[in-house]
Amino acid sequence: MSSSQSSDSIASTHEDAHERVREVSEFGAWIDGEYVSAASGETVATRDPVVDEPIVEVPRCDEREVDRAVDAAWDAFDAEWSDTTPAERSRLLFEWVSVLEDHVEELALLDSIDTGRPKSDARGEVEGAIDTLEYYASLARGQEARQIPAREDVHIYTRHEPYGVVGQITPWNFPTWAAAWKLGPALAAGNAAVLKPSAQSPLSTLRMVELAADIFPDGVVNVVTGTGSEVGGPLTEHEDVRKVSFTGSVGVGEHVMKAAAEHVAPVTLELGGKSPFVVFPDADLDKAVDAVATGIFYSTGQICDGFSRALVHEDVAAEFTDRFVDAAESYVLGDPLDEETTMGPLTSAEQFETVSEYVEIGQQEGATLLTGGSAPDDPELADGWYFEPTVFTDVDNDMRIAQEEIFGPVQTIQTFSTYEEAIEVANDTDFGLAAGLATESTDIAHNAAADIEAGLVYVNEYGPILSEAPYGGFKDSGIGNDLGTEALDHYRQTKSVYVNLDDPDLE
Ligand code: NAD
Repeated sequence: MSSSQSSDSIASTHEDAHERVREVSEFGAWIDGEYVSAASGETVATRDPVVDEPIVEVPRCDEREVDRAVDAAWDAFDAEWSDTTPAERSRLLFEWVSVLEDHVEELALLDSIDTGRPKSDARGEVEGAIDTLEYYASLARGQEARQIPAREDVHIYTRHEPYGVVGQITPWNFPTWAAAWKLGPALAAGNAAVLKPSAQSPLSTLRMVELAADIFPDGVVNVVTGTGSEVGGPLTEHEDVRKVSFTGSVGVGEHVMKAAAEHVAPVTLELGGKSPFVVFPDADLDKAVDAVATGIFYSTGQICDGFSRALVHEDVAAEFTDRFVDAAESYVLGDPLDEETTMGPLTSAEQFETVSEYVEIGQQEGATLLTGGSAPDDPELADGWYFEPTVFTDVDNDMRIAQEEIFGPVQTIQTFSTYEEAIEVANDTDFGLAAGLATESTDIAHNAAADIEAGLVYVNEYGPILSEAPYGGFKDSGIGNDLGTEALDHYRQTKSVYVNLDDPDLE
């Protein structure tokens, strides 16, 4: 577990990278086909967590820009967007895909600098985002409705219609991917969108929509930058926003749902998780260790569906734990722009504080810290919010470290002895986003996949996330889905049309 960087200064590499980022674009709020400043004249800086320095100032918008963006979106919808055919929208989405394909490296750099994730991971996520847009470009033309043969004298058919203008809010942790998950289905279904990215990582979203400037009519896609309370609040409360889709924490999600309820706008909520990974006694431990390590340490543990709770059968617990600690200690912490780096820093000082506090809480609760638990002892990394991969054992399920979303590289290991106990402990959480299983038995795999309360179940792996498969949480982890045909449905409302058919009469 060491820095991949030699004495080359991370600080000077990042100074150069910030310069390159600033050359990419001016990064305003994107409203009605152009970059605009906030009426207040205020800006908010995005920060690079590797060196804890500001990168770019973006407009600190408020309800004035939200109003302006919603108006622009309705104007675009009414003027021409609502008349487009699915085939036309499909062609435009494919055009966007083709432009984005020429900017993968640039978008990966923006996401890496903005969030601290290894650039190699960011590249894969940008490619995933492009794949999602390509999927919805394909799906757009396949949209069909129904004819309902209820009676001979009434011809009944359904129409799927867009909501008009939708409001979308994304979290900081997967900026490009999250934007594609929201915009792809919304546009394919025929909506205009106003999207608010996280104030911590807005750069790639702004650049993505700027790259679509010559593709979609002005006002069809808008991005309003700023804080959650100043932009997210007014967007979800806006009377003219007909549908809200939110990805983020449970606490903010509840707030969003209440705000949307005030004007009866439907919501899709993709919220947090505390996902169990159950290692059964017949598991292939190589696969299990690999899946759990990737599942908790990818993105420095800042992943909603991360396998933060390993539940391991008592017969294999000792061996699993030894191998897992080795896997944790093999991560290469370093400059995310270095292709050898496998773990970057946490995204902010606040997140570093939170994760440090949970480590203390875990120790106070009586769990045993096996490795990690603090910032690495490496002067090269001292400026960033780095945190060592951390593993706790002797964990009870009622401990806070086993129940609360830490959003950092902290794994808890618990043991079980029977199938029933494994399922009970796996389900003993308010969350229900994802779960994993390691077993070589199809009987165990399919039964456990059915018995665990989660919206996603991975057997013998972590990921992949594919655009075709719906993604969403049970219980407090959310409502509805991103991805798949399900997400397209969330952006359409269904109308039944009844046409009276009298008997044919030529007299
Ligand atoms: P967050 O809830 O703090 O913020 C999410 C977004 O909501 C940001 O854009 C933020 O500015 C905005 N926001 C904040 N206050 C708001 C308000 N009052 N009204 C409207 N919008 C407001 O989450 P985060 O720290 O950006 O992301 C981490 C969280 O997101 C974790 O809980 C993680 O599990 C979750 N997440 C879930 C998924 C999923 O698909 N289920 C994916 C990624 C992240």
